[in-house]
Amino acid sequence: CGIVGYIGNRESQPILLEGLKKLEYRGYDSAGIAVFTEEGLEVTKTVGRLANLENRLSGDPLRGTVGIGHTRWATHGKPSDVNSHPHTDNSLKFSVVHNGIIENYLDLKEELMLAGHRFLSETDTEVISHLIAVEYDGDIVKAVQRAVKKMRGAFALGVLTEHEPDRLVAVRFASPLIIGIGEGEKFIASDIPAILEHTRDIYILNDGEMAVLTRDAVELMTIEGNFIAKEVFHVDWDI
Ligand code: GLU
Repeated sequence: CGIVGYIGNRESQPILLEGLKKLEYRGYDSAGIAVFTEEGLEVTKTVGRLANLENRLSGDPLRGTVGIGHTRWATHGKPSDVNSHPHTDNSLKFSVVHNGIIENYLDLKEELMLAGHRFLSETDTEVISHLIAVEYDGDIVKAVQRAVKKMRGAFALGVLTEHEPDRLVAVRFASPLIIGIGEGEKFIASDIPAILEHTRDIYILNDGEMAVLTRDAVELMTIEGNFIAKEVFHVDWDI
């Protein structure tokens, strides 16, 4: 039940794992990360504690400076390795972490299956990565906006695509999500403690808002695509 994301110039794996640890209080049954490595967008995920994920990664770390991480509290599909996040599409070029519930996922899944999509998991989340892949025509921001329009329910999302390795897209609708602003690096997280050791400058997303992160900038907009301005919230307390 937690999301962390990083785009910057440092190795992302330790930042994602530390961030997820700070979100453990929210509860979870499985965990995973996706990182842009030299091989492309690679995912490691596992049912159980974060220690299990760390064990897997310690032998075979994912090296790269852009990544997303997730701790799952299963709502659709039992806790298992395949049902853990991040989820990908059939091209393996899109990767999504999701907190919340997609209420109309069965209808969406049926449509996608009729169009030839193969699903690996029992989750509601997997339809999101497929929808984004279907909507993609060269701009991940537009693809996410179009995909989100088809979804009903609650969602905080972190989205990466191998087609645009220098962007991280975040969306919030009825599940919490914040953006952390650092020097040459940006973060997303479900809650402030996950990134507080890296930055104290935060944007708090409201329902229906999204953010497009690059290493040097954050663009804020509504899911309809209207740009918005927001005050930076400076955190002056300690954990
Ligand atoms: N509904 C999604 C699932 O069951 C996300 C659960 C969560 O918020 O962690 O995989």
